[in-house]
Amino acid sequence: MDPITFGVLTISDTCYNDRSKDRSGPRLVSQIMQAFRNAQVVASVVPDENSLIQSELRQWINREEVRIIFTTGGTGLAPRDVTPEATKPLLDKECPQLMTAITLASLKKTTFAALSRGVCGIGGNTLILNFPGSEKAVAECFGTVKDLLPHALHLINDDVALVQRTHAQVQGTETVEAQIHVCPHQTGVGDGRDRHSPFPMLPISVVMDIIFGVVQRTTCLEDDIWKTTSPVNIPPFRASIKDGYAMKSTGFSGSKRVVGFVAAGDAPCAQPLQEDECFKINTGAPLPDQADCVVQVEDTLLVSRDKHGEESLVEIMVEPKPELDVRPIGHDLRIHDSIFPITDSSPVVIQSLLSSVGISKSLPKPKVALVSTGSELLAPGELPVPGKVYDSNATMLEELLLYFGFNCIRTVVLSDNLPETKRSLVHLFEKVEFVISTGGVSMGDKDFIKTALEELNFKIHCGRVNMKPGKPMTFASKDNMCFFGLPGNPVSAFVTFHLFALPAIRWAAGWERTKCPLATIQVKLSQDHILDRRPEYVRASVTSKNGQLYASVNGNQISSRLQSIAGADVLVHLPARSSECFKASAGESYPASVLRYDFISKYE
Ligand code: AMP
Ligand code: MG
Repeated sequence: MDPITFGVLTISDTCYNDRSKDRSGPRLVSQIMQAFRNAQVVASVVPDENSLIQSELRQWINREEVRIIFTTGGTGLAPRDVTPEATKPLLDKECPQLMTAITLASLKKTTFAALSRGVCGIGGNTLILNFPGSEKAVAECFGTVKDLLPHALHLINDDVALVQRTHAQVQGTETVEAQIHVCPHQTGVGDGRDRHSPFPMLPISVVMDIIFGVVQRTTCLEDDIWKTTSPVNIPPFRASIKDGYAMKSTGFSGSKRVVGFVAAGDAPCAQPLQEDECFKINTGAPLPDQADCVVQVEDTLLVSRDKHGEESLVEIMVEPKPELDVRPIGHDLRIHDSIFPITDSSPVVIQSLLSSVGISKSLPKPKVALVSTGSELLAPGELPVPGKVYDSNATMLEELLLYFGFNCIRTVVLSDNLPETKRSLVHLFEKVEFVISTGGVSMGDKDFIKTALEELNFKIHCGRVNMKPGKPMTFASKDNMCFFGLPGNPVSAFVTFHLFALPAIRWAAGWERTKCPLATIQVKLSQDHILDRRPEYVRASVTSKNGQLYASVNGNQISSRLQSIAGADVLVHLPARSSECFKASAGESYPASVLRYDFISKYE
């Protein structure tokens, strides 16, 4: 069966003005992708304007492949809520019972469902359903109708065989023959003649939504860390900011007797002090109790020393002022105040701020294991063997984990063997929450990873991504166990680690969602680049010319050529080729993911 294209239309003035506020649209997209393996989704956001809603709906209805449209928002009683009014004129037939089913299910959750005025119906060959705007309602409504949708489409298509089969199933008269059917969400399985992957090619954004929805996150940052208050004042005593002389500000400039010496680490001193006296003091030392200011050494002259060679008289050349060069108690952080002024998941920030208030605590990190698969793999250091290649992926991923502040608990190398792969995964998941493997996820008869996952009852959320390199990237989970099957080609593994596995691990560690992916900057291309049929992530080196960043693509981009990561500062995001545009031209600006902290290779 052809892929079903769904339309998801968010109707909301607020979301139209700020797309980041749209939670319901992305939620629907990810639910669709999870429920229908062969789904494709077009999505858009419009304001609560009748004409704009209709024009978007009309465009989708007119597209042959768009078979189901969900709208979310604008179904309520507010003056701007016009979604049903915009939808109705486009319907050739209404399907009120579908809406009744949704309403009955929703009423069981909340009586507020009675305030939704959504409609359902068919326009052309497209089924249109109005859902309310809240993310929760959208998820519930989708859950109510999702199992009805394939049959509804068969009916709209007048697909007699499939309709009969469903009726037989419902009536319990299904024959064995009828069961040999390629169900709409499993394209590519069935009679064995279909040579295509059964997994739909998902857009990267959808895969990210799925990952963030599935990966369980530690609450330790939110619950413990961000709420931590300081058990101490910083500084805990009045501290000198300068090397100089501590004195009373009520005295004047002129000569003063040096009556003592205070170094950093000394206890605060209670010795009496007159206006014509001072203490020599170091930066960070506690001010003597009776002093209230410090005059820096540069503003003084040494007049005399005593017989032991210690300073005894100094000339103070500026007028002392109260609090001059003194950090009062709690100046930088007050006791009981929150340690973290904002959330910042950098381990450098968290660990050093905790240390500064005397808390010694290591943060729990997600436990990760790495698996290299392939009967052809040789460990670095072994002698070359005909037919074998050296395993670079294990080393690369171990180093990447370390680079980003995470640890690899265990690395194993597996040959292409299904029982061994299954055994090893079961064993590893007893110790870790994440397994990242490379290889064995493509279409070869020795690619056992997906089979192993299925036989271990993992849910495969994604088996193909619309990107280059990295198309067969696989993400699966079971309970709190998450599995990333990166492709074996070293560059594909490199790119998909950065784009998918790293954000997932950061998310699991409790990072904010926006901080989980690599940072994105804009770069100008230094050379033309022919666009691929899939969105491409090219490795490029960055030169700064008067502050403007230029990206030069690092040679041949074939996914086996690991050399393209040498000098790679960024992954430039190039769009898929279209009928209007087949190349990215030098001088054009594109977004790029920053791969490393030192991401500028040259300054010109
Ligand atoms: P696969 O994804 O298993 O089909 O492998 C694709 C290509 O990547 C093959 O040429 C493999 O030999 C190569 N490959 C797989 N794993 C590794 C690895 N760990 N290190 C280097 N090359 C690999
Ligand atoms: Mg392989």
